Amino acid sequence: MTEQPGDHLRRTGPAWRLLQDKVLVHTRASTRNGTNPALSTSEHDGIILCGADALPVIGSFHRQAPGRRLQLVDPDSYSDYATADAPFRVASNNCSGQQSLFEEDDTEELRHSQQGQLSNGATASLTPTRYIGAGDRQAVASALQIVRGLDAQQTMLTLPLDYKWLREPDDLDYLIAMLADLPHVKAIALGAARNPLATRGTVTALRKLITSLERVALIRTDLAGLDAYAHGALFVSIGMQTPMRHIRTPGSAGPPLPRTSNVTTMVLHPQLMDYFRANTLRALYGRLPGPLCDCSVCSGRSLLRFDHTLSDQEEANRHNIATWLPWADHLQRTEPGADRRSAWQQLCHDARDAHQELREHLSDPGALATPSWFKVWAGDPD
Ligand SMILES: [Zn+2]
Repeated sequence: MTEQPGDHLRRTGPAWRLLQDKVLVHTRASTRNGTNPALSTSEHDGIILCGADALPVIGSFHRQAPGRRLQLVDPDSYSDYATADAPFRVASNNCSGQQSLFEEDDTEELRHSQQGQLSNGATASLTPTRYIGAGDRQAVASALQIVRGLDAQQTMLTLPLDYKWLREPDDLDYLIAMLADLPHVKAIALGAARNPLATRGTVTALRKLITSLERVALIRTDLAGLDAYAHGALFVSIGMQTPMRHIRTPGSAGPPLPRTSNVTTMVLHPQLMDYFRANTLRALYGRLPGPLCDCSVCSGRSLLRFDHTLSDQEEANRHNIATWLPWADHLQRTEPGADRRSAWQQLCHDARDAHQELREHLSDPGALATPSWFKVWAGDPD
């Protein structure tokens, strides 16, 4: 029998089955120097691609090897706020403050945008939800009402939530109550000007959100993805480049660039389990011997070799993935539930001990702070 267009998609099963237990790499589809980051590392479970060329890139992957990799497209629709009238960004209902009612045509266009992702070979589609401001219950209710009309097996509801949702217990309870009976996968991304988990109480609140819901994912995050995974998230995605590790509040400025470069290289320290700017890491160690890394990218070289250049940034990004992959693998091989949670806590606990041990050798021990969220991951109260 001749295969009809889309048959390969219908055969693959619901999103929650295909993506269950996966730790994906969240990356730009291409970078300033023309490289394709998704091709530079292959030991992961799959990818979420972001950027204007994400759709053609997954399309070309799909044509080369249909169904071989798990791949999703980040709609990156977070530069303006969702409203009750316009919770999603579609071409006819686009940008610049003048948002009209989300009407029948827009819903049809939303359906087309989801179908466009699938026909290009996406494992499932993600809705182009706009940024959901703190406590904006009407925007959430409107998004939910519209998404209920879309196929739950293949459409995932993207929820770009401002971190302040995690600070207000009433708002959090509202979210949980509203999302509880939605059959679609809920893909949460957290937004803030800086780290969404830097505020006290947010780690615990995020865990509550994850553990209270079925079919919930945490995307476009950093090691918080492993904490969510350990606490029962369906799947998670960890950013390869810094902007892919959380979403920014609309209108907020990014972190300042290093004084001497327009590139910032961030290095994940394998023992300290934290990301450091390349120059910060060098200043921290001072005259101490640099930390050597035996990941597949570094092969025993020092982590102090990185500078704020495009090529070093690209290599550091690959080192970062090679560093967290074994942690993800360890968690994936551990029974879900209490065993997996305690395996994650132990990893973080050991890293916190490594912080303390290094501090004892530093000329300026105060320069190495253990982040508040990390202490909670390691077992401290929030
Ligand atoms: Zn390395």
